[in-house]
Amino acid sequence: MREETTMHDHRKLGRELGLFDTDPLIGAGLPYWLPDGATVRHTLEEYIRTAERRAGYRHVYSPVLGKRELCEISGHWSHYSEDMFPPMDLGGEQVVLRPSLCPHHAVIYRSRAHSYRELPLRMAELGGMYRSELSGVLGGLTRVRAIQLNDAHIFCTLDQVTDEARAALELIRRAYEALGITPARYRLSLPGPGGKYVAAPEMWRRSTALLTDVLDRSGLPYEAAEGEAAFYGPKIDVQVVDSAGRESTLSTVQVDFHQPEQFDLHYIGADGAKHRPVMVHRSIIGSVERAVAHLIEQHGGAFPAWLAPTQLVILPISDAELPNAEGFARRCADLGLRAEIAGPERGSLGARIREARLVPYQAVIGAKEAADDHVAVRLRDGRRLDSRPAAEVLARVGALVGAHRTDLWDADSHV
Ligand SMILES: [Zn+2]
Repeated sequence: MREETTMHDHRKLGRELGLFDTDPLIGAGLPYWLPDGATVRHTLEEYIRTAERRAGYRHVYSPVLGKRELCEISGHWSHYSEDMFPPMDLGGEQVVLRPSLCPHHAVIYRSRAHSYRELPLRMAELGGMYRSELSGVLGGLTRVRAIQLNDAHIFCTLDQVTDEARAALELIRRAYEALGITPARYRLSLPGPGGKYVAAPEMWRRSTALLTDVLDRSGLPYEAAEGEAAFYGPKIDVQVVDSAGRESTLSTVQVDFHQPEQFDLHYIGADGAKHRPVMVHRSIIGSVERAVAHLIEQHGGAFPAWLAPTQLVILPISDAELPNAEGFARRCADLGLRAEIAGPERGSLGARIREARLVPYQAVIGAKEAADDHVAVRLRDGRRLDSRPAAEVLARVGALVGAHRTDLWDADSHV
């Protein structure tokens, strides 16, 4: 008999909750997002963009296609081409679907002259990339062929690497707190035997020493693992475990001396001479697909309120309170809260409450509440609050959602 687990299979739940689906006509490993799933994804992406802006990142957009030569220079073609789609012939040249965003970002950096005063230059993008996963391992959102990556590259001096890597770990910690994600472990991913990695022993020694120092000083427990590095450098990987007990990497911080060399990147130092920057690659939540898959499994579809597709369900007891329910729904919308009315035509109050069991807030409006401009709030976790002014409920829910809190009600807040 299968052991009872608190984790859920995101593929099953994702379909049941109408978050995403796949169709053989679109193809394996190419899921599409339904409106509720798209709402979760959009909210997550906006959280990330805002956190990055606050942390000094600037966002760019770059195309998902590029000439094969771009990937030859970066090293992806010789070290990573078995994971790439075959190149497309286009008017005498070959273009490829990119397997990562770094080559484009390196070229964007190179397109302008940079002074040491601009460093660290933090370039971020939530961008598309592609991986030719075998159809046998595809399913749900965890092994996909089209990936939306929360990516960033920090171009900095050698002296700045440690602080930037530590700041990236702090962004990851804060995001996990807001998302209610618990890391399984931190991993220092090192190269292993075989020709997968660029051959530059001194470069590997320096970059591994930098990341080891960051982890040692962070106080976080970690394990080193050989054969898990990127081909261009070592990584700090934040590992999570899925419903089947499989471990995968969600977040990562990497140090790269290789691509700055390959693309001949430089900045003008205080001495007026050209110097080579270091690239720190980092991702706070990894791919949007894998992050949402993990969130579905971790929470069983009961997302933190700020991320929930519907944040409040409004339950008029009878048709007589429908105008009040509509007025309350408009006030929610004005505050940017996602509310939905489930009226008496959808069944008894008990049935409507059961149907909305994953919605964080259930606002019941009866005759007395309607007369006083009150609502009686039930929380998703079963707590029932006294009937209270609608304005107070809106202020409290708005404050908790705005602060990306994972608790549903703050009894001590003064709003
Ligand atoms: Zn990168």
